[in-house]
Amino acid sequence: MKRRAFLKLSGSSLAALQATTLTAKPYPRWSGQNVPEIIVIGAGTFGVWTAYHLNRLGAKVTLLDAYGPGNSRASSGGETRLIQVDNDNPVYVRSAIRAFDWWKKMEEESGEQLVLPTGRLAMSTDDAHREVFKARKKQLQASKVENTEVLDHSEIAYRWPQIHTANLAVAMYNDGGSSGSTLMARKGCQVVARQLEKNGGSIQIAQAKPKFEPNGSISGVMTADGRILQAQMYVFACGPWLPKLFPKVLFPKLQVQRRDVLFVGIPPGDNRFSFPNLPEWSVSGSGYYGFPDIEARGLKVAPYPDHNDFDPDLDERLTSLYQVKRAHDFVRHRFPALADQPIVETRVCQVTNSIDGNFIVDQYPESPNTWIIGAGSGHGFKHGPAVGEYAAERILGNGGEEELDKTFKLKAEAFSK
Ligand SMILES: Cc1cc2nc3c(=O)[nH]c(=O)nc-3n(C[C@H](O)[C@H](O)[C@H](O)COP(=O)(O)OP(=O)(O)OC[C@H]3O[C@@H](n4cnc5c(N)ncnc54)[C@H](O)[C@@H]3O)c2cc1C
Repeated sequence: MKRRAFLKLSGSSLAALQATTLTAKPYPRWSGQNVPEIIVIGAGTFGVWTAYHLNRLGAKVTLLDAYGPGNSRASSGGETRLIQVDNDNPVYVRSAIRAFDWWKKMEEESGEQLVLPTGRLAMSTDDAHREVFKARKKQLQASKVENTEVLDHSEIAYRWPQIHTANLAVAMYNDGGSSGSTLMARKGCQVVARQLEKNGGSIQIAQAKPKFEPNGSISGVMTADGRILQAQMYVFACGPWLPKLFPKVLFPKLQVQRRDVLFVGIPPGDNRFSFPNLPEWSVSGSGYYGFPDIEARGLKVAPYPDHNDFDPDLDERLTSLYQVKRAHDFVRHRFPALADQPIVETRVCQVTNSIDGNFIVDQYPESPNTWIIGAGSGHGFKHGPAVGEYAAERILGNGGEEELDKTFKLKAEAFSK
């Protein structure tokens, strides 16, 4: 299918977006002066969705962001993120499936396409991965995700001749849904923020920091232009900025690490590498994963991991010649038709890791009116709606769930400085 024809099709398919069956838990209703006022700082995936759910549950919400929802410095910036169910922890399995339903519901509510059914192809050169993929298929079936296929070398080669498959042994493929779709990242944050405003919340572009009292409690937020804003509760969903805002408590507990993303040019008139002709892909052990050409930006290739510390405000977001060379070497081998193509765009982003790899949704130790949400690591984007829903319920005192509370608790352990 020609790319232009496809784009036309995907636009018209918006009308056919499927209804989902989300039911909100019962919640207290407030009237008049009893409505809780909450300031959420940070409009990445965790912040926008927490603000959206707080508003949905009846709170009066103000969302602040220093640079705007899904901005270029945010971990939730950029074009695309994968949604998949690839975790052995049932908390994250359940969360990804629930989050998918919320992303689809947001499409219905906003009329914007945020979820692309790209499919996900996890490839391996090692046949031992067959057992891993089979086990994952069973796990997904147990969670009612039924579209997992384990593919032999010949099937991979037949379906995707644009991939160099000679040394591939086995792959796992999910054709869309909660374990094989692509989320539009920046657009997603902007759309959820817009819906929050439409539903009565307010948004301000402002940098804010906690106003600490001598006893360590937080009595408001101070904006960079000198205002002090006060509410009953404060939620800091500031991603990689959290350690700077709360150095005493969070600096040793969160690590911020750099990630490079490169887009490789597509030959003119060639749509073999564009959605829907190529799925989101990864090659185990290669250090690379990526996305098809979406919105004509090129084939996205992302090396991982990178352990360099990163400052989200000040560090330059330029990729290195080393990453350019590595990406060319990888693409030349795996996508030979792109061997002579230039890098057409690059991004540098960052991930925020906690000591045990879990997200953090917890009260600030010295100030129970303040919540910290973060440590999305390399897989937090997709979970935004479910994490935000859980956080909103807890912030409003509707009770948590023991397993989730334990998982998302700010742990006592810290990284060595
Ligand atoms: C290259 C890369 C690839 C990834 N791939 C995936 C993937 O495929 N799937 C997936 O699910 N996840 C993925 N992730 C992880 C995911 O993107 C992050 O976990 C997630 O975006 C974190 O969101 P956040 O809301 O915690 O932080 P952020 O998105 O960084 O949001 C924090 C916000 O707070 C604002 N802020 C900070 N300080 C202040 C202040 N003082 N005042 C006001 N505002 C402030 C910032 O401007 C920002 O908008 C990837 C991440 C990277 C970098």
